[in-house]
Amino acid sequence: MVMKQGPMAKYGSRYGVRQKKIAAAIERVQKQKHSCPYCERPALERMSAGIWHCRKCGNKFAGGAYFPTSAIGQQIMKMRIEKEKVSAAPEAKLNK
Ligand SMILES: [Zn+2]
Repeated sequence: MVMKQGPMAKYGSRYGVRQKKIAAAIERVQKQKHSCPYCERPALERMSAGIWHCRKCGNKFAGGAYFPTSAIGQQIMKMRIEKEKVSAAPEAKLNK
């Protein structure tokens, strides 16, 4: 009889307080409005684990299981941007 309100109230006394606190923190962010990376409008919906769909532009893409981008995904995106900069640099020198 501890959590009578909040997203974890549906689990009652089951599964333990620690696990429910972790799950509540994830669910709170998951159910926020996320903006689409393609059209920037806050119309993303989670179809299933890792699959996100934009209700406005219709784009469907893979992302994090509970959030549109995962921590690893953001790191890989940074690495890709760095790699594109490096690969674009010699061409920029040739154009000058
Ligand atoms: Zn969109």
